Amino acid sequence: MVKKNNNKETKKEFRLPADVLRPVNNFLQGELKKLLSKKQQIEKNDPFANPDRINDNAAEDTDAAEQFGHAQSEAIKDHLNLRIIQVRKALARVKIGKYGICENCNEFIDTKRLMTFPETTLCVKCGKKGNK
Ligand SMILES: [Zn+2]
Repeated sequence: MVKKNNNKETKKEFRLPADVLRPVNNFLQGELKKLLSKKQQIEKNDPFANPDRINDNAAEDTDAAEQFGHAQSEAIKDHLNLRIIQVRKALARVKIGKYGICENCNEFIDTKRLMTFPETTLCVKCGKKGNK
């Protein structure tokens, strides 16, 4: 009796070729570096990060400006943090060879989507559902 083992064939792995992944990896690494340095810059510019602040007897309007500046840096920082997380996630997908495959439904992500939004880890359909 000949027993055929089809396990290997059914477990076909989707993988983007290395020559596609390498530039993607480089691009994402570059993005991550840019995002991290932007974040650093914002942290430096945050008026609340200024150690002299506590000691100065600034007028109330200066205080309001500082509050606003702080809220603004916080908002930008939040946005940057989300992008950093997303880029790191995409890099992790590259590492395990799952880049370009939706982490939600395991379908291939449209290449047009990947070109415009390289750090995405979700296909258009799943992205629209709000799975971030
Ligand atoms: Zn999907």
